[in-house]
Amino acid sequence: MLADYHIHTKMCGHATGELEEYLAVAQKFGLSEIGFSDHMPLYFLPPERMIPNYAMPEDEIPVYVNEIGRLQEKGGTVRIKLGVEADYIPGCEKKLEKLLNAHPFDYVIGSVHFIDGWSFDRMEEIDRYGEWDIWELYERYFNLVQQAALSGLFDIMAHPDLIKKFNFLPSGDLWPLYEETARVFKRAGVCLEVNTAGLRYPVREIYPSPDLLEAAFRNGLPVTLGSDAHIPEQVNAGFTEAVALIKETGYTEIALFEKRSRVLKKI
Ligand code: ZN
Ligand code: FE
Ligand code: FE
Ligand code: ZN
Repeated sequence: MLADYHIHTKMCGHATGELEEYLAVAQKFGLSEIGFSDHMPLYFLPPERMIPNYAMPEDEIPVYVNEIGRLQEKGGTVRIKLGVEADYIPGCEKKLEKLLNAHPFDYVIGSVHFIDGWSFDRMEEIDRYGEWDIWELYERYFNLVQQAALSGLFDIMAHPDLIKKFNFLPSGDLWPLYEETARVFKRAGVCLEVNTAGLRYPVREIYPSPDLLEAAFRNGLPVTLGSDAHIPEQVNAGFTEAVALIKETGYTEIALFEKRSRVLKKI
């Protein structure tokens, strides 16, 4: 029983392929379930500061919802869920809440891709790592991720240590920060996403790191699996490694969602 819950569509402007092609790859690998989780509009940016091809425009959310519905109606062996990936920006919670409540999502993945307006996971903005003490950057990032979890807007926290993407790693013991983050996630009632996209980037490691996953397990946090596919071939990518990692850590179940309520299923 495996499910890929982090799949993008061409509606965000930077993924390619038809929905049916993503589904076909899931079928090929025998996944029981997939969930599309395309990027919510950049609801927190004024129109003149929109990043082109970064997320679907607001007026296209209903189209996205309908397209997934159309695929669900076709039926088939792979169950299909309607998810979404939404950015957390402190101070903009109300606006996001309104957008999320307007549609029948099965789950909402919360992401931190911006620190004070800096889109730190984009290659185009990589120079700005030079302005930071990397340790302070990690503290700032994990603080935001914790705040995001506590906002109550999200079911799943995406790629929880995305800040390591370009391999800017702090020296020093990250365990206390991981432990604190896991405790806050538990209090917030969110799941942690095991996201294999990290394997495709300079860090060459699944998000979260084994230590962060260990902290999550000790604190009783459920996990979901996600490939963060932006092309059909990436569905299920890295899942052999991800499943080995979660099993080694002690997990025997993953979380699934329907209409924003969670069930745990044996893997
Ligand atoms: Zn994307
Ligand atoms: Fe993301
Ligand atoms: Fe994503
Ligand atoms: Zn993502």
